[in-house]
Amino acid sequence: MDFSLTESERELVGLCRDFAQKEIAERAPLAWQESRCATDLLREMGALGLLGILIPEEWGGIGMSTVGFVAAMEQIGLADQSVAAAWQAHVTIGSLPLFHFGSDGQRERWLRPLAEGIALGAFGLTEPDAGSDARGICTRAERRDGGWLINGRKAFISNAGTDMSFGVTLLARTESAAEQGSRFASFVVEKETPGFTMGPKMRGIGWRGLDTRELFFDDVWVGDDHLIGDPAMGLNQFLGTLEVGRISIAALSLSLTQAVLDMATDYAQKRVQFGQPISKFQAIQFKLADIATELEAARWLTYRAAYLRDTGQPFLKEASMAKLKASCVATSAASEAVQIHGGLGYMLESPVARFYCDAKVLEIGEGTNEIQHLVIARALGC
Ligand SMILES: Cc1cc2nc3c(=O)[nH]c(=O)nc-3n(C[C@H](O)[C@H](O)[C@H](O)COP(=O)(O)OP(=O)(O)OC[C@H]3O[C@@H](n4cnc5c(N)ncnc54)[C@H](O)[C@@H]3O)c2cc1C
Repeated sequence: MDFSLTESERELVGLCRDFAQKEIAERAPLAWQESRCATDLLREMGALGLLGILIPEEWGGIGMSTVGFVAAMEQIGLADQSVAAAWQAHVTIGSLPLFHFGSDGQRERWLRPLAEGIALGAFGLTEPDAGSDARGICTRAERRDGGWLINGRKAFISNAGTDMSFGVTLLARTESAAEQGSRFASFVVEKETPGFTMGPKMRGIGWRGLDTRELFFDDVWVGDDHLIGDPAMGLNQFLGTLEVGRISIAALSLSLTQAVLDMATDYAQKRVQFGQPISKFQAIQFKLADIATELEAARWLTYRAAYLRDTGQPFLKEASMAKLKASCVATSAASEAVQIHGGLGYMLESPVARFYCDAKVLEIGEGTNEIQHLVIARALGC
C-alpha cells in the first residue's frame, strides 16, 4: 500500500498548514474560551474550497481523496479541535447523505451551497432516548397532504444552530403508529421551516467552539422533494455515512495527539528541574516515545481505512478500528502531556489543557468506542 500524497494533495496540505498556523491558531482559542463557534474561520475555509473537500467539482467541491482529507485534517486539527470538529462534521456526515443519496435537484439546491462553503451542514440522528441504538429513534414522519409531517426531537446535533447553518438532514421512522415494523427515511428540514425550533448551544467539557444543540420538530411539514433517496433506506444511508465519519474522527484524533506530543516535547526540553531539562529524565522520555509510537500505529490504521474507501473497497471494520485506536491514543496522550506540563498543564490558560478537554469526546462521538468494539467483533463473525 502506498499512502504517499499526490501533487495536488500535497498542495492542499500546504494550504491547510498555512491557514491553520496563520489564522486558526491565532483566533480559535478565544472562540473556545468564549464558547463561540468560529464561523468566520469556517467561512474563510469555505472560500479556500475546504468545505467541499470530499465533494466533486461538479457539485461545487474540490473532489479530494479521503487520504488527502485525512492529511489536511492533520494540519487543521493541530491548530484547534473545535474548528476541526465543525469542519469534519460538515464535510462528512453533514454533506455526504445529500451527495450519495440525494437527487440532482437536491444536490443543486442544498449540496452545492454546502460544498461551496456558503452554508454549514448538520446530521440529525441521535435523540434523547436513542444514541447507540439508532433503531430506537422515535422521531416520526407521516404521509400527509402530499408530503411528510415530522414530529420528534434530536439531541446533541452539531452545526445546526450557527449563523451559517442551513438546517439539518435527519432520520425519522415512517411506519404508522399502528404498524409493528421499523422503516426509516431521511429528510432535509431547512432552518426557517415552521415548527422547527432548537435549544441553546450546549456546553461541553471540550469542543467548546462547536455548536451542538437539541432540535425540536412539532408538526413540521416538508414536501416530497425533501425526502432523500429511497424512503426504505434511511437507516442504511445514515449508518453508511457514519463509516466515513469514523475515519474523520480518527484523523481528528491523530491531529490532537500530534499537537499534545509537540507541546509536551517542547515543554520537556525547556523545563529545568534538578539542574537539567526534564526531557533528560527517562520517565519523561518513555512517555514521549510511547505517544509517538502509538500515534504512528493509529496513523497507519487511519490512512489504511481512507485508502480502502478511495479504492472502492469495504472499510467498515477498518474505519471502526481506526476510530477506536486513534481516539484511545488521543485521550491517553492528552493525559500524559498534561502530566509532563505539571501544574501548568492543569490550567486552562495553557494550550495543552484545552486539547486535554477536547480529547474525551473522541471516544464518544459518531459511535462510542464500545460500539466500535461491537462493529469489529461482528465483522470477525461474532
Ligand atoms: C459533542 C457532541 C457532538 C455530537 N454531534 C452529533 C451530531 O452532529 N449528530 C448526531 O446525530 N449525534 C451527535 N452526537 C451524539 C453522539 O453520536 C452520541 O452521543 C453517541 O452516539 C452515544 O449515544 P448516547 O450519548 O445516547 O449514549 P448511549 O447510547 O446511551 O450510551 C451510553 C453508554 O452505554 C454504552 N452502550 C450503549 N449500548 C451498548 C452496547 N450495546 N454494548 C456496550 N455498551 C453500550 C455506550 O458505549 C456508552 O458508554 C454528538 C455527541 C457529542 C457529545
